[in-house]
Amino acid sequence: MTILTDLTMLEVKKSLENKDFSAVELTNAYIDNIKKHKDLNCFITETFDRAIDDAKATDDRISKGESLKLLDGIPIAMKDLFCTKGILTTASSKILGNFIPTYESTVSQKLIDVGSVLLGKVALDEFAMGGSTKTSYYGIVKNPYKDKTRPDKILVPGGSSGGSSSAVAAGLALGATATDTGGSVRQPSAFTGIVGIKPTYGRVSRWGCVAFASSLDTCSVMGRNVIDAALMLQAVSGYDEKDSTSFKSDVPNWFDDLQKNSDQSLKGIKIGLPKEYFENISEELMNVIQARINDMKNLGAEFIDISLPSTKYALPVYYIIAPAEASANLARYDGVRFGFRSLNDNKEFESLNDMYIKTRTEGFGEEVKRRLMIGTAVLSSGMYDHYFLKAAKVRRIISNEFADAFSKVDVIMTPTATGGAFAVDDVMSPIDMYMNDVFTVASNLAGVPAISIPAGNDSKTGLPFGMQLIGKMFDESSILRTANIVEKTVAFDNRPSKLFC
Ligand code: GLN
Repeated sequence: MTILTDLTMLEVKKSLENKDFSAVELTNAYIDNIKKHKDLNCFITETFDRAIDDAKATDDRISKGESLKLLDGIPIAMKDLFCTKGILTTASSKILGNFIPTYESTVSQKLIDVGSVLLGKVALDEFAMGGSTKTSYYGIVKNPYKDKTRPDKILVPGGSSGGSSSAVAAGLALGATATDTGGSVRQPSAFTGIVGIKPTYGRVSRWGCVAFASSLDTCSVMGRNVIDAALMLQAVSGYDEKDSTSFKSDVPNWFDDLQKNSDQSLKGIKIGLPKEYFENISEELMNVIQARINDMKNLGAEFIDISLPSTKYALPVYYIIAPAEASANLARYDGVRFGFRSLNDNKEFESLNDMYIKTRTEGFGEEVKRRLMIGTAVLSSGMYDHYFLKAAKVRRIISNEFADAFSKVDVIMTPTATGGAFAVDDVMSPIDMYMNDVFTVASNLAGVPAISIPAGNDSKTGLPFGMQLIGKMFDESSILRTANIVEKTVAFDNRPSKLFC
């Protein structure tokens, strides 16, 4: 029997066209799964009535014999950072706990335009700050995977897009939106055995996406395989006059390209292995990555050892620039214009400042406050030159090193994270948590595109490991094409039903 929620987007598209099942039937299968796996806590807001209406519209189009749109009838989840008209948008924060936007973000509008079905809004680390989804005000999100060596432990789905990754991995959505400021689409994809792509900065409009660090925030997508991720990316990419950093160029037809490209060879592709990314990884992870390198060599790829020497500064640079930008962006949550205002035990506030302080103290979580304090500090007059300005200069060096590397290679390959998913109750300091991003932040600082695909499993824990392919500016095509070929060599089964058997 076909389990509808196990099908890929491509299979669903074909089946809908053949009328094997209806979009409403498919949507109901997803709704049933969401209800069955409520304990994963992926969704903050479920939009099931809207989903059924969306699916009916697809079925209508099919019955009228209209040609199907790009994501017609595809049930998706939306990271709760994208403003959705008339639908609660919280950024997983208490401070936006009652915020219902009167407008649609460009990404969510584009997903409406291509006929997708919105199942609901999924959780994230508060304001996308984190790598575990543990900082969501709406409770932790669970990873559907279990660690075989300690099966009693609940694992994190990664972060910040942990609601998106867990939902896609567990079959609660066929695809999801995500955002990636320092790794938030790639690390959670790696932790849950799915595919996540962060496009080039400027490829997808940020308009209507709640801002964290504007020069790094990259609206991104997740799917269960490379073609699904390409389809999602195709749908949301493109110039938008409402975003001044949006890039004016045509969007390549990645989906067609991957479908038509039957050539499974990697001949002529030069892949760079930056030594700095392989220094402190476990033997298990190295074995898995080595196996993929061997596969790729067998397919004709040429590997070249490269160096990105300033990588070691990427993390500290990121943790100066991101909090600095966040402290400016989050200044707007003041209890006046957006969302929550402190009730002050029903007493009068002493002053306007008193209201601001109480609202922000009660409205933001601990990690957000930590970032705001770091950000405010590094921007203060005594520290600006030493921290922010210096970080901005090192960022340029990191960017130049990438440009230099890409004069020698087409694609750079690294692990996505230093290991597999960790447990919710593993003791970690904020710095340990920040170390999670060590392989992902550099591509945000440089603005280059990067994808994470499943590389295989840890032979002891059984958990998935991710591998990352980084591309040149605006060359998503090369990383998608390479990832699509590599995916076929990996014996990785990510049918959701197998996780719960
Ligand atoms: N984990 C990183 C952070 O906490 C990245 C977050 C993201 O990409 N949104 O800042």
